[in-house]
Amino acid sequence: MNKKISQEVRVRFAPSPTGDPHLGAMRTALFNWAFARKNGGKFILRIEDTDKKRQIEGSIENIIEGLNWLGLNYDEGPDARGDYGPYIQSQRKKHYVDAVNKLLDDGNAYMCDLSPEELEKMKEDQKLQGKPPGYNGYSRNRSREDLEESKKKGLPIVVRLKVPLSGNIEFNDLRRGSMKFDLSKIDDFVILKADGLPTYHLANVVDDSSMLISHVLRGEEWISSTPKHLLLYKFLGLEPPSFVHLPLIFGKDKTKLSKRHGASSIIEYKKSGLLPEALVNYIALLGWSPRNDKEVLSYKDIIDNFDFQGLSVSPSIFDPEKLSWLNGVHIRSMDNETLIKLTQNKLFEEPDDTYKLDSNKLSKIIPLVKERIKSIDEILPSIRFFFIYTKPKRSIIKCGSLSSEEIKEILNKLVTDLTVLLKKNNITHSDIEKLLRDNCENLGLKLRDYLGLIRNCITGAEVSPPLFESIEVLGIEESVSRIQDCINIL
Ligand code: GLU
Repeated sequence: MNKKISQEVRVRFAPSPTGDPHLGAMRTALFNWAFARKNGGKFILRIEDTDKKRQIEGSIENIIEGLNWLGLNYDEGPDARGDYGPYIQSQRKKHYVDAVNKLLDDGNAYMCDLSPEELEKMKEDQKLQGKPPGYNGYSRNRSREDLEESKKKGLPIVVRLKVPLSGNIEFNDLRRGSMKFDLSKIDDFVILKADGLPTYHLANVVDDSSMLISHVLRGEEWISSTPKHLLLYKFLGLEPPSFVHLPLIFGKDKTKLSKRHGASSIIEYKKSGLLPEALVNYIALLGWSPRNDKEVLSYKDIIDNFDFQGLSVSPSIFDPEKLSWLNGVHIRSMDNETLIKLTQNKLFEEPDDTYKLDSNKLSKIIPLVKERIKSIDEILPSIRFFFIYTKPKRSIIKCGSLSSEEIKEILNKLVTDLTVLLKKNNITHSDIEKLLRDNCENLGLKLRDYLGLIRNCITGAEVSPPLFESIEVLGIEESVSRIQDCINIL
């Protein structure tokens, strides 16, 4: 067990399967991944499932789905090969039992038979006396035999670490510098629970050591655990990894990030039309920057520039508008082919089979909408009219203050003109634009009112991609037939 930390960079993402993976967890994964990739090291996925009470079914699958979707591929993990598995803690009991036995044998840990109710009572009494509540060392000086007796009687037994009563423990956070903790403030914490499973502290240390983890990059909320881990490394005769704590993520109101702030789980983001590259770009900027003012980052930019100096030490603030803006930026930089494929995948999910998956048509439509959208989910509603015509409501077939009769006349004229235009070969959007502008001028109407009327008639909607191009793609005949439908409504 006493293996030396290898020189190779080996980092891990060690989520507990207690719910859907959230932004903070995925940011931790991203930074570990980027650090490994930059240094030619290994990125490992380890599932920390020793708290069975908090485990939520499906979480492991969702964590893996989230990592795969974001493109954060791991070299070792539950479903990937590796020499240090299993990568699920509940399958590694033997490693923890060995460590606990060593700690007990060396007198650095002891058993305790205080029941959870008694512990609660102890804390209540301490509060009443104005003391900070905590475990008071009840079994620290009792004999091992005495406690073995309790165990035989079937009492719930935990194992606690014998934390030195005085002194300090210090470590060098690779971003924050030296950090010092007063040991007298740390309770004799539990390392093995009554159900025989290790606590997070013990399992985390044993596994980081036996999986030869070189650097631990984890959220700031774990800083107070680090001195406990260092004690364990010391008592187990193991060399600790290096530590880097990542800044907290808050909502705009400076409270812990939650759904209230518009943050979703990664699985929800996946369903919501967000591009993985945009989300990765956004979470990279949560507490890190490449220090060159660049905000639009590719995977390669993140890897190439990733270093601990770029990490901030103050909390970062989640801003959903910025995420949505970045999504738009990434959509625009995507090539049309990829965007067409994504749209087709979405079309396949549509229950309505009147949809035509006409790639040819899509390849003309996609460039029209690409510049305007911020989410893949906005594509379908804005292009639906190309495939299915839903007649507009009577109320939106309007043009300034003109009467129905006047509108009918305008539309009839347009039908005639478009039919004439049909005789021309290779009709382009410029021909359509010229026709509509000339008509508008001759009628003495405001361009906005006139084009608005035509848009509403042809698309059935009040917003659409650019009108002239849309008519070109839709075709003159189809456009004429839609205008005629509207004339009949009037
Ligand atoms: N299982 C812990 C978590 O859920 C891991 C913390 C760590 O990286 O040490 O975040």
